[in-house]
Amino acid sequence: RSAHVVVVGGGFGGATAAKYLRLWSDANVRVTLIERNARFVSCPMSNLVIGGMQTMAQITHDYTGLRDHHGVRVVQDTVTAIDPAARELRLASGERLHYDRLLLSPGIDFMPERIDGLAGHEDEIPHAWKAGPQTTILQRQLAAMPDGGVFAIHIPKAPFRCPPGPYERASLVADYCRRHKPRAKVLVLDANADIQSKKGLFLAAWGDRYRGMIEYRPNNQLLGVDARTRTAKLEFDDVKADVLNVIPPQRAGKVVELIGSRLVNDRWVSVDWLSTEVRDVPNVHVIGDATLSAPRMPKSGTMANQQAKVAAAAILHLLADLPPNPAPVVMNTCYSYVGGDSAMHVASVHRFDTAEHTFLPVEGAGGLSAVASPAEATAAQAWAHNIWADMLR
Ligand code: FAD
Repeated sequence: RSAHVVVVGGGFGGATAAKYLRLWSDANVRVTLIERNARFVSCPMSNLVIGGMQTMAQITHDYTGLRDHHGVRVVQDTVTAIDPAARELRLASGERLHYDRLLLSPGIDFMPERIDGLAGHEDEIPHAWKAGPQTTILQRQLAAMPDGGVFAIHIPKAPFRCPPGPYERASLVADYCRRHKPRAKVLVLDANADIQSKKGLFLAAWGDRYRGMIEYRPNNQLLGVDARTRTAKLEFDDVKADVLNVIPPQRAGKVVELIGSRLVNDRWVSVDWLSTEVRDVPNVHVIGDATLSAPRMPKSGTMANQQAKVAAAAILHLLADLPPNPAPVVMNTCYSYVGGDSAMHVASVHRFDTAEHTFLPVEGAGGLSAVASPAEATAAQAWAHNIWADMLR
């Protein structure tokens, strides 16, 4: 019997799922991928673009492989309405699509309204937390910053996309400044009480390579900004910066509102991790950053890619009236650069636990680099090229 699976979002989760749904099925399963952007721009490696070590072209890829090698129908459009009862969705172009199973991997949307004065000012105070035009804006602001200037990064309270990402950005901005603006300062204003990932390794690198250049301030909750003067209004003082990079609080991509699921903490979608089906909306699956993460599962590209394979397998089983695989195992690897020529990684393995009915980390599996090294920078590049190929070719 023929079936139609619609995937929304051509990022790490959605592109991988679209490919593997076709790879693991026959011509009877049609797959349509809806993505609003013409091309995929990778967040991983985008901090290197900000630091001037790579170009936008190196992190931008097209969707022709999914179409030509795997027979996925790729539609550049935006989803505007979903009717889960009728199993139908509507696109901005007016096209209506009927689905047997729907998979959403929309990533995050921002909550700028939580920071006074921020909404509508993303060009002056960029986040660059979705790679694309924002990456270029931030890179240009850094290049135009005077020597002796202050580059301030604000990190929202966890959970947010890519726990080590802001600290990697601080490192690469400092690497750029060391070479081009040696009197500049990188100020890390963290709403959290501590560095969220790879703390010891980041602090070691900051002490060795950028002594005195990076200042880390924990418990610095941002209340408001003045876009005209690039001032960050914190709980206890104001900080005026030359470049103000505010990473706003995050939530599931807004398209999830169209399915009418009750979001956890108004932010994330709760899924049954065995199948990735949304707990309160049948036939709809959600993966990636938009989900309420399982314990100690980071919001990462590797994780979204792995969850995509769990989802693709489960969807094909469910379409064939079979139960999903009872014991999925996934893993995460996350590289971070501490300078253009040196990186480190953290890795973990997550096994579905039947008693808890969620993924739990496998104790003793995975680990952390002992030190950052050039060899790991080579491995980080290989990781990026492999995962982009796994998603898109
Ligand atoms: P995305 O990859 O964001 O994909 C979502 C897609 O859905 C987007 O293309 C969007 O355009 C589309 N979309 C949303 N709504 C709609 C709609 N209504 N209609 C049509 N299309 C829609 N992870 C790692 O594993 N390793 C790293 O080294 C790493 N580094 C990072 C560095 C930075 C600076 C950042 C910001 C993130 C980094 N990440 C890294 C995290 C990684 O980028 C995310 O975890 C990953 O992108 C999540 O995948 P996703 O499929 O959930 O969302």
